[in-house]
Amino acid sequence: MRTPPATTDASARREELRALGRVTGSRLLVLEALEASPANHLTAQQIHEALGALGYRSTLSTVYRTVTWLLDAGLVHEVVDGQGARWGARARAHHHLVCSRCGTTTDAADSDAVDDSVADLSSLAGWGPPTGRLAITALCPPCNSGGTSASSTPAT
Ligand SMILES: [Zn+2]
Ligand SMILES: [Zn+2]
Repeated sequence: MRTPPATTDASARREELRALGRVTGSRLLVLEALEASPANHLTAQQIHEALGALGYRSTLSTVYRTVTWLLDAGLVHEVVDGQGARWGARARAHHHLVCSRCGTTTDAADSDAVDDSVADLSSLAGWGPPTGRLAITALCPPCNSGGTSASSTPAT
C-alpha cells in the first residue's frame, strides 16, 4: 500500500521557510490564495484578483515573480498543458484533469501505474525520464452530467 501523499507536505515546508523568515508579505498571501482553493488552480490574473480581495496591491509582474519563487522553493506546482500557466498549492508533482468544456483543473489521484506508463512512453521513444506531468482532458462532473445550463457554448 502506498501512503497517500501528505497534503501537509507543503504546509510543513511553508512553516519551515516561514520560520526562516523567507515566506512573508506577498509570498505568504499568494500561498494563502492558492491554499484557499485547493481544488482549483489559479492563473496569474486570478491570483492578482485574490490578492486585491485581501486588500493587497500587487501587479501581474509581482505575481509572476512571487509564484516563480514559490515554485523554486517547492511550495507550489505549475500546470503545464499549453492553455496558459496556472498554479496550485500542492507541492508534490501530480497529474491533472482539465475539463474540456469549462476549463476546471483538478489534481488527479496518484497512480504508480500511470507514472510507470508515462516513463515507458518516454523510454520507448529513446527519450530520458519524464520531467513533466500529464494534463488529461475530460469533462468535469457538472459538465459530464449535462450541466445545469442548457447552453452549449463553453463557459468562461
Ligand atoms: Zn467542466
Ligand atoms: Zn495540481
